Amino acid sequence: MDCDFLIIGGGIAGLSAAARLAPMGRVLVLEAEDSLAHHASSRSAALYEPRYGTPAVVELSMASGDYFRSVPGLLTHRGLLLVAREDQRAEYEKDLQTMAFEPISPAEAQAIVPILNLDVVKLAGFADHADDIDTDLLLQGFAREARAQGGTILTRAKVTAITRTATGWHVQWTGGEAEARMLINAAGAWVDEVAVMAGVQALGFTPLRRSMARIPAPAGHDVSRWPMIFGPGEDWYAKPDAGALIVSPADEDPMHPHDAWADDMVLAEGLARYEAFVTEPVTRILANWAGLRTFAPDRVLVIGPDARDPAFFWLGGQGGQGFQSCAGASALVADLIGGRPPALRADLVAALSPARFG
Ligand SMILES: Cc1cc2nc3c(=O)[nH]c(=O)nc-3n(C[C@H](O)[C@H](O)[C@H](O)COP(=O)(O)OP(=O)(O)OC[C@H]3O[C@@H](n4cnc5c(N)ncnc54)[C@H](O)[C@@H]3O)c2cc1C
Repeated sequence: MDCDFLIIGGGIAGLSAAARLAPMGRVLVLEAEDSLAHHASSRSAALYEPRYGTPAVVELSMASGDYFRSVPGLLTHRGLLLVAREDQRAEYEKDLQTMAFEPISPAEAQAIVPILNLDVVKLAGFADHADDIDTDLLLQGFAREARAQGGTILTRAKVTAITRTATGWHVQWTGGEAEARMLINAAGAWVDEVAVMAGVQALGFTPLRRSMARIPAPAGHDVSRWPMIFGPGEDWYAKPDAGALIVSPADEDPMHPHDAWADDMVLAEGLARYEAFVTEPVTRILANWAGLRTFAPDRVLVIGPDARDPAFFWLGGQGGQGFQSCAGASALVADLIGGRPPALRADLVAALSPARFG
C-alpha cells in the first residue's frame, strides 16, 4: 500500500491532520492501539478555554474557534470560576489577568456553586467564555471526513521500523508495510521515539502525567450548570461531567511514554486541595485515570517540516491544549504541506516551527 501522507498516531492530532490532508493526496493513518484516541485523546477535561497556555498556543486555540463554532453541537457553554484564599492573592491576581476573569465576591461565587466554603474562599473571579468540547464528536467527525475523502485509518498498526528511501519513507507496522512520500509524526507522548526510529534527531519532548478522579455530585446537587472551578495557580480544578464532578490535582509529573494511570497519593493530595474549598467531603471515587500531556521544552506545539529532512513533518507537543488548538493546528499542517501561504501570522508560524530548535 503506497501513500502520499503517512500519519503516525490516531489521536486528535493525527485524525485532524488526516481530515485536512485527505483532499491533497492518499492518506494513511496508523494507530498502534485497538481503538482510536486510546491515550491522551480519551482522557482530557474537554474544555475550550483559548486563553489557557503560552501566548503562541493561545493564538492557535483562538484560531480554532471559528471551526468549533461551525460544527453544530460541538461546543456547550461552561464558564469558569476561580476561588482562592486571602494568602493566595498573588496567584489569584495573575489568573484573573491571564484568563480574563471578572472579580466577584465570595457570596456571588457561592450563589453559583453552593458548596463553596466561605470560611476559606475569600477571593473569587468569574469568566463566561469557556465551553465544553464534545471530543467524541470532534474525533469521529475528523475520522469520517478523512475516510470520505479516500483516507485509510488502521488500528492495531504499531509502527516498528522506518527507513528513508530516495523518494520518501518505507514504513513497517504490525501487520503491514507501505511506501510514503511524507511522514507526519503525530505520536503524542511517543513523538521523539518515532523520530529516532526514522533517524531524525529528537527535539526533547517531555510527557507530563495529569490525573483525574470522578466523584459523585456533592450532596446530590445538580452540577450540570456549574462552571469549571479552578484553584489559584491551577493547583486543582473541578468540572461537571455527565452528572458527576471530575476533579484533577493538576499534576505535571515527568514520565516516559506509556499507558498512564493515576497515582493514589497524587490523587488524594489533589482531592484534599479541592476539599479545603468546599463544605462537602469526598466520600467516594467513581473512577480515576491519568493521561500524558506532552510538551516541547518551550511548551509550544511543534508544527512543521524537520529542519534537516523536510519529508519528516512534526505535529507534536500538544500539551494540555491538543483539543482546543486542533483546528488551527491541522489547518496549518495542510497549508505548509500544500505549499499555500498559511492563514496564521508569519511570526506565529515561526514560533510553532521545529526550526526554532536550530
Ligand atoms: C487529564 C487531561 C486533561 C486534559 N484536558 C484538556 C482540555 O480540557 N482541553 C484540551 O484541549 N486538551 C486537554 N488535554 C490535552 C489533550 O488531551 C492532548 O493534548 C491531546 O489529546 C493530544 O493528542 P495527540 O493526538 O497528540 O496524542 P494522543 O491522543 O496520545 O495520540 C497519539 C497516538 O499515537 C499513537 N502511537 C504512538 N506511537 C505509535 C507507533 N509507533 N505506531 C502507531 N501509533 C503510535 C498512540 O497509540 C496514540 O494513540 C488534557 C489531557 C489530559 C491528560
